[in-house]
Amino acid sequence: MTPDSLTDFSKNTLTPTQTLLQAKGLGYSVSQQDQPLVILRNLDLNIQRGERVAILGPSGSGKSTLLALLAGLDTPTEGELLWDGKAFSSLGEDQRAAVRAKEVGFIFQSFQLLPELTALENVMLPLELRNETDAEQQARVWLDRVGLSQRAGHRPTQMSGGEQQRVAIARAFASRPSVLFADEPTGNLDEGNGRKVADLLFDLNEHAGQAMTLVLVTHDRQLAARCQRILQLESGQLVMPEAADE
Ligand code: ADP
Ligand code: MG
Repeated sequence: MTPDSLTDFSKNTLTPTQTLLQAKGLGYSVSQQDQPLVILRNLDLNIQRGERVAILGPSGSGKSTLLALLAGLDTPTEGELLWDGKAFSSLGEDQRAAVRAKEVGFIFQSFQLLPELTALENVMLPLELRNETDAEQQARVWLDRVGLSQRAGHRPTQMSGGEQQRVAIARAFASRPSVLFADEPTGNLDEGNGRKVADLLFDLNEHAGQAMTLVLVTHDRQLAARCQRILQLESGQLVMPEAADE
């Protein structure tokens, strides 16, 4: 495989409809002693294939909960989520796990690398779980793309936060997901490293083109403004985005 064929996203298996993710009256509550605590209420949204969408909102507004629902990691208590036109709730647990493994990539605020594995092994892991035969070669290509070929043998504790997040980005892109969910990807980094990580994320996403949809959660307006569309969440509800104030 040549490096370019490794980054070819055309192998993704979802059929090409326009709307990739659709939420209809989506809600999420948790039970408490007296009355349920409503975390998300009555959300309607559509995300198109290849779109870059930011979900902007203050801390505690429900962004991470919404991301978990959109990615099928958690189940809504109200409403419905459609993936490529299919109700996620109509899939069995095995089918959902298969969709997640094949189609979904994640980047978290806290990097979430496995501490006992090297950078290379962290990037290889999802490829090995998919039984890809050239996992190591692919992982090396991606480490090179994020500028970390020299750190292949280092463990997360031997790397800075910015470097760890670049490894996490390599790991997410290496699986060629249809949808990449990023939850506050620069939230634990200083300004300079945050900008570098954001530049890398947007560069690689642009390179993937229509084959990769990006859903980015953030409370940082400048970061959100790099997406094509901003959804604004406040107290678990979508509100009209405010006009840009700069
Ligand atoms: P954000 O990512 O925007 O900071 P979250 O989605 O993490 O917000 O959380 C939204 C609100 O829901 C917060 O007030 C949080 O404490 C609460 N919350 C989230 N999950 C649970 C849960 N399982 N049980 C109780 N409260 C929760
Ligand atoms: Mg959060």
